[in-house]
Amino acid sequence: MKSIHIENQNSTILIGESYLNIQKYLPEKKCFLICDENIYAHYKSFVDDFDHIIIGCGEEIKTWSSVAKIVEKLLAGGADRNSYLLGMGGGLVCDVTGFVASVFMRGLDFGFISTSLLSQVDASVGGKNGINFGKLKNMIGVFNPPQFVICDPQLLRTLPEREIRSGFGEVIKHAFIKDKDLFEFLKENKDALLNLDAALMEDLIYRAVSIKTEVVNKDPFEKGERKKLNFGHTIGHAIENNSDLTHGEAVSVGMALATRLSEEMSGLSSDQSYEVISLLRMYKLPVDHEVPAETINNFLIKDKKKNRSSIDFILLNSIGEASIKAIPIEDLKSKVIRLCKDPKPIQ
Ligand SMILES: [Zn+2]
Repeated sequence: MKSIHIENQNSTILIGESYLNIQKYLPEKKCFLICDENIYAHYKSFVDDFDHIIIGCGEEIKTWSSVAKIVEKLLAGGADRNSYLLGMGGGLVCDVTGFVASVFMRGLDFGFISTSLLSQVDASVGGKNGINFGKLKNMIGVFNPPQFVICDPQLLRTLPEREIRSGFGEVIKHAFIKDKDLFEFLKENKDALLNLDAALMEDLIYRAVSIKTEVVNKDPFEKGERKKLNFGHTIGHAIENNSDLTHGEAVSVGMALATRLSEEMSGLSSDQSYEVISLLRMYKLPVDHEVPAETINNFLIKDKKKNRSSIDFILLNSIGEASIKAIPIEDLKSKVIRLCKDPKPIQ
């Protein structure tokens, strides 16, 4: 087991710890476990040992009405300011659990058992909690870190293959923006990793979380450096909102587009651009997707990271090194339209 403490957030990520050891980390408080139906189906006897709240499935659990239902159940179960919330699930469950914990009676302590690769490497680290507003993802939320996150690679074995791939999209992102060695590791161990080899997965999750932690420690409120973690996400979110792709798949397409833009705008060599897109393909992630350019543009205009007339866009200078560039929206629109019209899939 490896642990990473995020100093300025007082949050500890426990990688390779078994979820069955949860009692070691829970305080002497009345604890409510929140999970979705999938987790309940797979881990029923574990969940039944807690006061628990089962919240549907899918994106609808990140809505106002879902928050209201959780609050109702907490009140009905006798929750008070000293209660503790334990979210068990992927990013959606952790997001809504963290959000409710942050606002219920002005805030409860909380922790996560993170069950998807995406949430183990990304969503659970950094203290972002939030819900969607209509079609707009994470429009309402807070920065508030969980006390701990258990990342148990054994939990990944009950995930659908597509969700595993989606998680790899986010892991690969960390390699692209910060860590050439991790990029090589992903290339060399592709087969074992896709088969979820436990020791290698623990290593991989540790490396990705370390990168994210380092960035979050430097920039907890996303003023500068942390924006680099949004690589592939500006266009990725637009695609995710307008297709049936998962988050990691949509981000993969977003990263492929941002990589091609990087060739023009930040001096990424065409050889490295090819290597980046090849790695995404090795992990069976999509690198282009038919979404009308207009749809993407309409979304860019609404992007919550929009900073007046330009968008802080993340580009690659080389594999393992990213930069932030404020691109005027009009400029970005025309570039994206051109790239979408000329998908130029790399062989
Ligand atoms: Zn993401």
